[in-house]
Amino acid sequence: MKKFLGTNKVKAFKQLLKESDRVVLTCHVHPDGDAIGSSLGLMHLIRSLGKHATVVVPDTPPRTLRFLPDFGEIAVYTRHDPYCTRLVDEADLIICCDFNTPSRQDHLAPLITGAKAKKVLIDHHMGPDMDVDIEFSYPEMSSTCELTFRLVAACGLYCNLDANSATCLLTGLITDTQNFTVNCANVDIYEILMKLLEKGADKKKIIDECIKACSYEGLKLKSYAICNKLEVFQQHRCALITLSKEELDRYHYEKGDTEGLVNEPLNIRGMVYSIFMREDPDCIKVSARSKYNFPVSSVCRDLFNGGGHLMASGGEFKGTLEECRQALLDNMKEYDKFIPRKIDKLEL
Ligand code: 5GP
Ligand code: MN
Repeated sequence: MKKFLGTNKVKAFKQLLKESDRVVLTCHVHPDGDAIGSSLGLMHLIRSLGKHATVVVPDTPPRTLRFLPDFGEIAVYTRHDPYCTRLVDEADLIICCDFNTPSRQDHLAPLITGAKAKKVLIDHHMGPDMDVDIEFSYPEMSSTCELTFRLVAACGLYCNLDANSATCLLTGLITDTQNFTVNCANVDIYEILMKLLEKGADKKKIIDECIKACSYEGLKLKSYAICNKLEVFQQHRCALITLSKEELDRYHYEKGDTEGLVNEPLNIRGMVYSIFMREDPDCIKVSARSKYNFPVSSVCRDLFNGGGHLMASGGEFKGTLEECRQALLDNMKEYDKFIPRKIDKLEL
């Protein structure tokens, strides 16, 4: 396996760990499998070194991640503000997982930014903009969990990884690569997969919970969206699904129910990118995915106040659902130049 991590930074990180007794792991708002997997995975590992470690997150993680070992111990800022504040105030080390800028933590950002603790960033998003003591930022990694595994190994702590840590880390590897279907060209990740399985990672549970499981209403909502709400903009190779609050209510929408929906239109041969817009209480949540290196990150940055990875991005639009849809329609032609010439015909 190719060595990625600089020796000096790894040494400095080991030293910080050694000096710290109370560690807080934190991640981005609307946490996903990679954010929670890397935070909880590191929490288990740091606890095995005899230290206090707690995960503090901006808001409630989706129920699909409830199976993760010690998920119940996660401190959720929107629910337990004083408890989270105390943990952050008392911490001597804060490890920021899977985000690249304070604003990705929403209302938790001021607490973390203002904390006196030393800070470390472990992340795989482009263009980190964080005031930290040590930065591990590697956009070429499939997931923050992959990066975390490499860091743990580089620190000589591989022997401390137990089945609980391994299950958490494998979760991010599986969810961020959509079960090894995207961002999985680097063969190292299969070696990491093997090592995590050897450690006892519960792959079946991860697949059942994070990839397959859905509720009855959730399945109906996704089917409704594909059957009735899929728009295809043929000449722009773009697919769009929008879901209004009324439609979400009709299917008793719960957090996580639309997970993966944005990927479905991309299965159509010749489709280049897919956008999903959901009318949340405070904003229009946008998700975007693409193929052929089409930069949906630019679309999300330009139009939806967001960003992310080249081919998996998101954003939050302030305005109505129709305004959000219109913003895309009005600007779609600007992105035609990123559509590669020699690709499959769009089969409709
Ligand atoms: P998802 O569509 O699963 O919510 O997000 C996919 C990816 O897009 C995330 O891993 C994250 O990198 C990025 N992303 C999602 N929402 C936002 C957002 O509101 N702002 C920014 N900057 N990135 C986002
Ligand atoms: Mn990630």
